[in-house]
Amino acid sequence: MKEHIDTIPLWEAFREEGECPLCRLHSRNEAKYREYFMGASVMEPDVRVETNKKGFCARHYGQMFRMSNRLSLALSTHTYLKDVISRVEEDAKAREGAPKKAGLFSRRSAAAPADAAGVEAVAGTCILCERLEDTMRQYVETLYVTWKKESEFRRVFATGKGFCLPHYAQLLREAPKNLSGGDLAEFTKTLIQTERENLARIEKELEWFTLKFDYRNADKPWGNSEDAVERTLNKLRMLSIPFKDDEPEARPK
Ligand SMILES: [Zn+2]
Ligand SMILES: [Zn+2]
Repeated sequence: MKEHIDTIPLWEAFREEGECPLCRLHSRNEAKYREYFMGASVMEPDVRVETNKKGFCARHYGQMFRMSNRLSLALSTHTYLKDVISRVEEDAKAREGAPKKAGLFSRRSAAAPADAAGVEAVAGTCILCERLEDTMRQYVETLYVTWKKESEFRRVFATGKGFCLPHYAQLLREAPKNLSGGDLAEFTKTLIQTERENLARIEKELEWFTLKFDYRNADKPWGNSEDAVERTLNKLRMLSIPFKDDEPEARPK
């Protein structure tokens, strides 16, 4: 049942024929989670407790700061900050209280953190990243299953524009865990072929972008090259430039 629910956004992302359907899914779900953590999640005590414990990473704090609901961000950050202060306090007390043994172990015991979840762990957590990674893991698993079962999906997959490099690498890496035998061989072959063709295509589009700056080409048509720079950046490094509709506040007008 779950598989059925997850298949629809997957199809939609592939039918958009963008540079990377998995980036599109990532971006859409990231936007949904942002809305959720800035709004609806405050109604759910379990989620609130977890948010107060984990906070967000730099990327997601940045995105939420650019959204309009500054009060909601301030409230959740304030609660998280108080939790951070208590844990920094706990860690500091444990360090002050660490026994100062003479000799071999003295230096090590003074530097030892209070527990495994010391200040390092406090600084490195993001509840949104955790949720999003889990969602994307499910979509990628569903991608292999759908490719295996549906010939129409195989066609859309083969005639698409390939993937960004990180997702291309991920699909190659995880294929043997999800497919085997002839399926694995065919999937890998199609994936590589599509990626090669589309890297070659985008290289030409980017080149034409640069050539358009030559005065002799000024009157010639742009073709597909007008947005070639941002599409290439996203092809190389996932979501370097955000999708307009998923994160309008990050795009200059
Ligand atoms: Zn991607
Ligand atoms: Zn994050």
